[in-house]
Amino acid sequence: MGLPLPRGKGGLIGILVVLAGLYFGLDPALLMMMLGGGGGGAPTTAVSPQDDELAEMTAVVLADTETFWHQQFAAQGGQYIEPTLVLYRGSTATHCGTGQAAMGPFYCPADQQIYIDLSFYDDLRRQLGAPGDFAQAYVIAHEVGHHVQTLLGTSARVREAQQGLSQADANALSVRLELQADCYAGAWGHYLAQQQRLESGDLEEALNAAQAIGDDRLQRRGSGTVVPDSFTHGSSAQRLKWFQKGMARGDPGDCDTFTVANP
Ligand SMILES: [Zn+2]
Repeated sequence: MGLPLPRGKGGLIGILVVLAGLYFGLDPALLMMMLGGGGGGAPTTAVSPQDDELAEMTAVVLADTETFWHQQFAAQGGQYIEPTLVLYRGSTATHCGTGQAAMGPFYCPADQQIYIDLSFYDDLRRQLGAPGDFAQAYVIAHEVGHHVQTLLGTSARVREAQQGLSQADANALSVRLELQADCYAGAWGHYLAQQQRLESGDLEEALNAAQAIGDDRLQRRGSGTVVPDSFTHGSSAQRLKWFQKGMARGDPGDCDTFTVANP
């Protein structure tokens, strides 16, 4: 896997900080941190110690998801293709348009890259009331879930099925896709728990995060009103339910959110 280069206009607005990966003895391909965004200043290698810590944690979590998904794909006779992780602050160019800090973490199927704005972690802690390492890990595992859906063709089938549907029906399908990603994150959580890698409080952190970033919670925080038809991620209760479903047995096969009547 090669290191993708930033595709920003007007030259490099950030810099690839593979040094962070080397410093922590991690695969540099895992780590691509783009700093800056706007300003057009000279590239800088100044990475705050806090960002270093987040970058390290993120890379460790990603590596753990890779172990889990390699096993899962191999068990089905398939092969897992690892996604690339892009950490950034501010904004960054992607094959899915410009990544903005306001968007939160997202996965771009077109370049199979997971984009995580580091300031989202701050938001998660300060504004959304979901502190803790495992809460952050859950967010990464959810985005990895979207990557798995892309590899399996689930995302493409959903996008196809959404053509010609009303907005409400299309959103309902998006919710099912999101809840499946939550369930996949839960299955990975089960794998960690089996290895006795979860500390006390970790599970609560993740479940808290799953609830904190439910659409209804976010909407209430945003506009004060809740509009279920516009949900694209699912309610807090739904996200919690599907994370727990994945967590229960650690089998991604339990994550069929599409055939149940009420996900
Ligand atoms: Zn998602």
